[in-house]
Amino acid sequence: MREANLNPLNEQVAVVTGAGRGIGAAIARKLAALGAVVILCGRKLEPLESTAAEINRADGRAQVLPCDVTDLSSVEAAAQHVDTSYGRADILVNNAGVGGFGGPLHQMPAESWDQVLHTNLRGVYYCIRSFAPIMVRAQTGHIINISSLAGKNPLPNGAAYAASKWGLNGLSYSVAEELRVHHIRVSVVCPGSVDTELSPHTGKDSTKMLQPDDVAHVVGMLVTQAPQSFVSEVLLRPTMKP
Ligand code: NDP
Repeated sequence: MREANLNPLNEQVAVVTGAGRGIGAAIARKLAALGAVVILCGRKLEPLESTAAEINRADGRAQVLPCDVTDLSSVEAAAQHVDTSYGRADILVNNAGVGGFGGPLHQMPAESWDQVLHTNLRGVYYCIRSFAPIMVRAQTGHIINISSLAGKNPLPNGAAYAASKWGLNGLSYSVAEELRVHHIRVSVVCPGSVDTELSPHTGKDSTKMLQPDDVAHVVGMLVTQAPQSFVSEVLLRPTMKP
């Protein structure tokens, strides 16, 4: 599992939200392959356990930590657990997210709006609020927020999702300025369509879409950047338009 006998992350502790499937699982596998101890967060235990087992079978180190990013006390308990168990949180990947591509905004039920914004935006605030103090104490860390090209462009029939990701970009740029004084790097990754369960991507050719490993590769690049610089934003596109 370790890449070419290298261990660039050297037992750093990495927390990945939404790590049971899709992009989050690929990021967890990648960070473990780079030598991190990976904490897999999400609501459903079974997919987290199967991703962790896969990592551990491949000689990586993974631990499962059930956590709902929409619940501040759940996120705070997760951060407390990581701090007590490891005394550090070097990398936080805010990946957990939900879609919401059901039609025009004026027909969207208010509960759906709340679920999208609460998970994709407020959830990231909860995670940064809970984990950043551990990084500030250590005067080092890297926070990576998984946004979307829907945070750079209009998305008809996905206005709430687009709003959550435009908001996440603004949050990321601002928090990056707040935390760089503490040697904490904040990066935002904006992928185009990725072949996962998030969306059926109706009308798109899935063979041309990005794969979760493409996003994980970017995260691997970001966290292995030498400490004196950081990539603040990545726009990731498939080579062929799907
Ligand atoms: P998936 O639907 O495959 O996975 C989403 C993950 O988020 C699941 O593991 C889910 O686990 C977790 N999750 C959802 N709600 C919560 C919650 N309240 N608390 C904790 N975990 C939660 O989607 P993707 O892998 O495609 O998406 C990952 C990220 O990438 C999202 O932020 C998405 O917006 C972004 N993205 C996706 C693109 C795509 O085309 N797929 C394109 C650009 C960005 P569980 O339900 O068990 O909690």
